[in-house]
Amino acid sequence: MQIVSEKAVKAAVSRADAFTAVESVFAAMATGQAWNFPVVREAIGHADALYGFKSGFDRDHMALGVKSGGYWPGNAARGLTNHQSTVLLFDPDTGQPRALVGGNYLTAVRTAAASAVSIQHLARPDAKTLGIVGAGHQAPFQLRAAVEQRPIERVVAWNRSPERLESLREAAQAMGLPFEAVDRDTLCEQADVIITITSCFEPLLTREQIRPGTHIACMGTDTAGKQEIDPAILASAEVFTDDPTQAATIGECQHAVAQGHIHRDAIRPVGGVIGEPGSFRRSAEAITVFDGTGVGLQDLAVARVALERAVEAGTAVRIDL
Ligand code: NAD
Repeated sequence: MQIVSEKAVKAAVSRADAFTAVESVFAAMATGQAWNFPVVREAIGHADALYGFKSGFDRDHMALGVKSGGYWPGNAARGLTNHQSTVLLFDPDTGQPRALVGGNYLTAVRTAAASAVSIQHLARPDAKTLGIVGAGHQAPFQLRAAVEQRPIERVVAWNRSPERLESLREAAQAMGLPFEAVDRDTLCEQADVIITITSCFEPLLTREQIRPGTHIACMGTDTAGKQEIDPAILASAEVFTDDPTQAATIGECQHAVAQGHIHRDAIRPVGGVIGEPGSFRRSAEAITVFDGTGVGLQDLAVARVALERAVEAGTAVRIDL
């Protein structure tokens, strides 16, 4: 089997690679060619950590495997990424392990690629201002991928701890875009596209704050109990997701479904729009929401690309198990 280190993965997988891989696997999920297996996610009662497995099989790209890891909130204080992930790919023909791939950078680029795919397929074509709620590890990745999807001219952002916004300011400026730290009312007044990427357990944005025509990518809620937006927003929006089952149970839609604001059948897979571009035509006034719950197949999709590129580049290490 091959081992692909975090360093080799970073050199191998670009934002464009991640976008293509994630877009393609979302489309495969919508046709039933790829499916995710039930997620295991447990609070382990140590270090406040959430640990689990996300796995699946993509028949279109012959990717079978599992991402293992989770969220250790104390890691940042140790100079480590809070999310820790490793991907194990298997040969679908034999079940033999094919590769062990570092998953930390991959998690960030595949999560950013998911919201970027949603912006590409669902946001207004003339979106000019990007708003970001949250400024943790994932946020700069989100910013960089999102601004490539629309003619974005400026970035506004809010974070509970404003000092953490500096990483977003640097990311925006590196992309040649002006950046402003704002309050949440101003963010919603100005942003055409909003990405939420926090670990919050209560709504940060209300229905009253959201303007017609806004696209919101809710990327932080990936566990039961978490929440970033008012369920009433979902009730008045066209709602899309990576995986409707996950959206209704562990994603942003969980509260809206549980409280009867939306029916789970109203949550559409974005892959359907990717596969059939004419199947959704947004009006200028529509509010669109993408509930990005994070699926194992996204991880397998980018890990597969990392493996192929690293083998080509000679940066993968072969071992006999
Ligand atoms: P991080 O720990 O680096 O940052 C957490 C962010 O959440 C910070 O901006 C912090 O200020 C904010 N936050 C935490 N509690 C809050 C509260 N009560 N109110 C307002 N803001 C609050 O985490 P990260 O790596 O940037 O990840 C952010 C979130 O995204 C995590 O919850 C993670 O589980 C989730 N995530 C989702 C996916 C997916 O595919 N959907 C993938 C990766 C991460």
